[in-house]
Amino acid sequence: MLLFIVDIDGTLVEIRKASGRAMRRAVEDCFHIPDPFLGIPLSGRTDRNIVEEVCRRHQLPEPAWPAFIERLAGYLKEELDRDPGRVLPGVEAFLAAAGQHREVALALGTGNFRPCAYLKLAAHRLDAYFPVGGFGEDGPTRAAVLQVAYEKAKAHYGTNQVHPLVIGDTPLDIEAAHQAGFPCLSVATGNFSAEALSPYRPEALVEDLHQAWPAILELFPHQLG
Ligand SMILES: [Mg+2]
Repeated sequence: MLLFIVDIDGTLVEIRKASGRAMRRAVEDCFHIPDPFLGIPLSGRTDRNIVEEVCRRHQLPEPAWPAFIERLAGYLKEELDRDPGRVLPGVEAFLAAAGQHREVALALGTGNFRPCAYLKLAAHRLDAYFPVGGFGEDGPTRAAVLQVAYEKAKAHYGTNQVHPLVIGDTPLDIEAAHQAGFPCLSVATGNFSAEALSPYRPEALVEDLHQAWPAILELFPHQLG
């Protein structure tokens, strides 16, 4: 079985505005600092890593995570009602085809906290494709999150015969996939162009998910045969 471990932001959906606003409100509430993300790169990082870095820079203790996540999810729901963002090109057809393929299973591998991940997907009716996944609270690094996604998916789908493929839009997705020992299909629908992603050596690289199947067939000729 092929297991696609799929990133959310920049890969399936573009929800930068609502996402950023919700995170800012939650962090400002918690720590009372203006412009908490100034100078902190956000792309491809886990939500947890972002908050941890804010704490480090401002020498603050980490928040109580469950309460922080609940607050963040509450704000995200409000912000998504105002501005749900958009589904990226090729996503719906790609997921529909993956969902119907007997040899393919889907999991999330995202830096979002679990409730936030499902709010973003539900806003675009994509949540039902992903019964399982690894999330921002599941590990200290993105590679750990991918490993958790892989383990949980094997248990969920009831098989150890699994070939994982990470699908994501940033250099960090590629690096994390390789750290976890997984191949990566990069999509240039986020903040990074194909030219910018290419030096990180993803196993496959496409402009958007419209082009994903031919690339995947080439990577796994025997599994999809
Ligand atoms: Mg992403």
